[in-house]
Amino acid sequence: MKTIIGFSIILFAINICFAEDPSHPDLDSFIQNIHKFAQSSIKIDAVDKIIYIDPYRIQKTDSADIILITHDHKDHLDPSSIAKILTSKTTIVAPASCKKNIQKLGSKKVVYFTPREEKKIDNVIIESVPAYNIKKKRFHPKKNNWLGYIITIDGIRIYHAGDTERIPEMKKFQCDIAFMPLGQTYTMNSVKEAAEAVLDVKAKIAIPIHFGLYEGSIDDAIKFQKLLNGKVKVIILPDESVE
Ligand SMILES: [Zn+2]
Repeated sequence: MKTIIGFSIILFAINICFAEDPSHPDLDSFIQNIHKFAQSSIKIDAVDKIIYIDPYRIQKTDSADIILITHDHKDHLDPSSIAKILTSKTTIVAPASCKKNIQKLGSKKVVYFTPREEKKIDNVIIESVPAYNIKKKRFHPKKNNWLGYIITIDGIRIYHAGDTERIPEMKKFQCDIAFMPLGQTYTMNSVKEAAEAVLDVKAKIAIPIHFGLYEGSIDDAIKFQKLLNGKVKVIILPDESVE
């Protein structure tokens, strides 16, 4: 009887540990390489690649290998931030529908995507996925073919949702780390919707973005963390664009 009780206690303890931290140790160390700036701006400092997504309000100069742009709203396509990190070796990845504004950056290395394409750039697999509003159609209409991306680095799948509501396509996505907008004016309709989207894409770690400046607050990020407690590890990264 004692053995059964002891075994049950061990099983219970394992369950508790798993519920509190379902992420993989490799993912936890990979997270150390991720930096957040204003809005949806992310830097991934991978082993041999520096990748930026939607760089915005970047203060320091840097040498990006790849810059991904989700769409050409000014808080996602920011020429002054791009100028600080663009070199002759940088590849810019952008929606084909934003070509006119991307060409103004003057870069010769640009790869355009439409939704649902997959291309390998500098040994990084990049998949483009749709990003759009269902209710607030005027901000990010589906017909604009703006994007989110799933990037695979060192076998880890990283999803950056772009500016989007929770869309039906998300249930077919699979990722390890998800950058999810909290918004509520231009992106998600509620924090709960953002949390449900994280479950749709089967993320092990979720990092909230698109809050704390024009829409969404730190309180929303904390609520997002609470809603996913025991299901998905949520990491609230500091905004490094704030001096
Ligand atoms: Zn936008």
